[in-house]
Amino acid sequence: MSTARPSECGYRPVSPCTGLNPRLKAHGLALPNLGDVDPQSVAGAVSTGTHGTGGKLFGISKAVVAVQLVTATGEVLEIDEEHPWFGASRVTLGALGIVTEVTLQCVPAFLLHAREEPMPLPEVMGRLDSLVADNDHFEFYWFPHTEKTSIKRNNRVPEGTERKPVGAFRHWLDDEFLSNTAFEGVNRVLARKPSWIPRVNQISGSVLSAREYVDDSYNVFVSTRKVRFRESEFALPREALPSVLAELATWFGAGHANISFPIEVRFTAADDVWMSTGHERDNCYVAVHQYWRTDYDEYFAAAQDIFTAHEGRPHWGKAAHPRCELTLLSGTRASATSWRFATSCDPARTFSNPYLDRVLG
Ligand SMILES: Cc1cc2nc3c(=O)[nH]c(=O)nc-3n(C[C@H](O)[C@H](O)[C@H](O)COP(=O)(O)OP(=O)(O)OC[C@H]3O[C@@H](n4cnc5c(N)ncnc54)[C@H](O)[C@@H]3O)c2cc1C
Repeated sequence: MSTARPSECGYRPVSPCTGLNPRLKAHGLALPNLGDVDPQSVAGAVSTGTHGTGGKLFGISKAVVAVQLVTATGEVLEIDEEHPWFGASRVTLGALGIVTEVTLQCVPAFLLHAREEPMPLPEVMGRLDSLVADNDHFEFYWFPHTEKTSIKRNNRVPEGTERKPVGAFRHWLDDEFLSNTAFEGVNRVLARKPSWIPRVNQISGSVLSAREYVDDSYNVFVSTRKVRFRESEFALPREALPSVLAELATWFGAGHANISFPIEVRFTAADDVWMSTGHERDNCYVAVHQYWRTDYDEYFAAAQDIFTAHEGRPHWGKAAHPRCELTLLSGTRASATSWRFATSCDPARTFSNPYLDRVLG
């Protein structure tokens, strides 16, 4: 993460010298878990409940141990774990004031052994409990209209293990060419020829072959994303996942829009962070994406209906229909407390905007 700003619909990679993660590494430190990109600001990632994957791990906001906040009246609040407003000061959507400092509980820098391979969806679902429980970080990408997935298992390595990063050619082939350059070209074509998508997804699901490597944690967590897309992601109770994926498969099979982008599935443990999608619930996260040149309304609306029927909580930093945003807020007592706090420290609504008015009342 950094102070760099995102481009309109995607992120430019962070310079290896300016990002938070390389700077932490220089101090022998790391964040325990990260999302799959790193150009966000720390305040933005914390304020929206940004998360990665790990059945026993949490989103980034859980690592916050203190926040410095400038309120609408210009008062500077130092809020640590003893402060009565600590609960409200992490996932804030910017409603409480301007976050000017964040103190994060880091861990010693660590290497991850990454193992990526294709696996048929029925096998993933059959082995899901152990895949989530037996790996520090497990996630998978399901290619719509197929039973193909690409799974990722990332695990901490014993002390003394050497880095074995992906070779330069393999990195270019998998992470630059196939995942970005070729994927962009394919999506441009598919935006004009959507009927080709199911066959192309069959091929895409087979092209990324298995690979293993060992690298600094942030190099494993973070990927380069150059293809522009729209995304909606919901947190769901883990036990809902089989039904949710089956209902999505039924929707794909019913002849609605063809979808080229894989569906991303991740996992986190219950946290105590107010307004967090992980608040007091072990989650799986299901993220749907659509290429930016292609209409997303019908797909996202259908997916959101499925998610909300299974107690889905929308990610604050991603697209969601207004009626879904409200389900998260009304779902947790802590959220209401948070908002009462927000209104008391910003009575004139200096930090409000149409989005906050909609979701916070
Ligand atoms: C390509 C891509 C990949 C992504 N991958 C993931 C992922 O793996 N996991 C995940 O959970 N999310 C992911 N996201 C979502 C992303 O982490 C969030 O949208 C995040 O908030 C973006 O951070 P930002 O710095 O751009 O914040 P902004 O979009 O600028 O702000 C987000 C919110 O934070 C508030 N805010 C920002 N700065 C401050 C401040 N200083 N004080 C008070 N409030 C502030 C804003 O008011 C706003 O409400 C991804 C997004 C993209 C585009």
